[in-house]
Amino acid sequence: MTESSRNLLIAGNWKLNGSKDRNRDLVAGLLEGVSGDGEVEMLVCPPYVYLEQVATLISGGLIALGAQDLSVESVPGAFTGEVAGTMLSDVGCDYVIVGHSERRVLYGETDAFVARKFCAAQRQSLIPILCVGESQEERETGRTEEVVRRQVETVLDEAGIDAFDNAVLAYEPIWAIGTGLTASPDQAQEVHSLIRAMVSARDATIAAGLRILYGGSVKGANARDLFGMDDIDGGLVGGASLTAQDFLAIYSAAQD
Ligand code: PEP
Repeated sequence: MTESSRNLLIAGNWKLNGSKDRNRDLVAGLLEGVSGDGEVEMLVCPPYVYLEQVATLISGGLIALGAQDLSVESVPGAFTGEVAGTMLSDVGCDYVIVGHSERRVLYGETDAFVARKFCAAQRQSLIPILCVGESQEERETGRTEEVVRRQVETVLDEAGIDAFDNAVLAYEPIWAIGTGLTASPDQAQEVHSLIRAMVSARDATIAAGLRILYGGSVKGANARDLFGMDDIDGGLVGGASLTAQDFLAIYSAAQD
């Protein structure tokens, strides 16, 4: 697969936001602006309880559906509060975010645990969006490469390189998430090309086709420059995915 065959993906992570009324308005707004031309894919990731509602609202197929997390458990059982990949597929999800920094930092998810979730997603034919990224302290002490390498290699070792043929990566520097700070296009590109090189060392064809999203305060105003970089294949968007106008501005920037 060549670089030019990577369709951009603009993914909205709604986090702990939404209500039935707000979701209806937001999706209606998005549907007014999404073109479905196939060049740029739009994805929304609502909280679990709203997945089925949003699946119905987007049923025309112009917007894809994803979840924000999943259980490592694949078989039904006594796992109170957990949601399995089978259930996500059952309600219409194609994608699932794994290893978001908020899960790692606030809920103690380790690299090894994230790798198990990545595998659990693929067992159910869900496309995992694997999030990696360094903290501010790690960047300031020159450890960005070491951290990102460890996060990606742990999953590569557990899942195997072939698993990356049907996966998405998201580089999300923690210091840029929800802070209004954005990695410059050059800073982001440096890490994106490192990730692609890491994957390429195992399989160059898979690496060439792998979509690597950037996340961290993406907005309409900075999206065009970020998406113009060689190894940036779209965005994982938090705050700006909560209003149709802001999310569509990012989506439009991806179409240029
Ligand atoms: C995110 O939650 O993945 C994210 C990038 O958030 P924000 O766009 O708000 O920085």
